[in-house]
Amino acid sequence: MDDCIFCRIANGEIPSATLFEDDDFRVILDLGPATKGHALILPKQHYANIYELPEELASKAILLAKKMAEAMSEGLEADGFNIVQNNGEAAGQTVFHFHMHLIPRYEKDGAGIGWKPGKLTDEIKEEILNKVKVK
Ligand code: 5GP
Ligand code: ZN
Repeated sequence: MDDCIFCRIANGEIPSATLFEDDDFRVILDLGPATKGHALILPKQHYANIYELPEELASKAILLAKKMAEAMSEGLEADGFNIVQNNGEAAGQTVFHFHMHLIPRYEKDGAGIGWKPGKLTDEIKEEILNKVKVK
């Protein structure tokens, strides 16, 4: 994936502020941080999104996210921590190489991460319970 910026960063072709690296992943600082320390977990292999990501890498990614959350919260004295992962344009994904956002949170940091709560009606609830089939 020569034209994928995250492939090039993850594999060291483009230098980046790297917090951690192993055989499968590179963790870099986001260039447009939501808060101080906002970082991204990038797999070194190209997968566009969570649908493409193999199960084994998905498992490794969440274990790495936990390790990073601990190290970053301690080092940066964060008060909380968000892990965000967008898939598809409709969900806010702008770079189509799977990544997880690691966002340290600080009291009153003002980072607008969230949504406006709606209402779960009985009709919609029944529809969803009927439609979602976990394989
Ligand atoms: P998405 O919206 O796809 O979930 O997140 C893409 C993220 O990548 C954004 O937070 C954006 O700031 C970050 N980003 C985009 N291009 C680059 C880049 O070249 N280097 C780094 N370090 N971050 C980038
Ligand atoms: Zn890529």
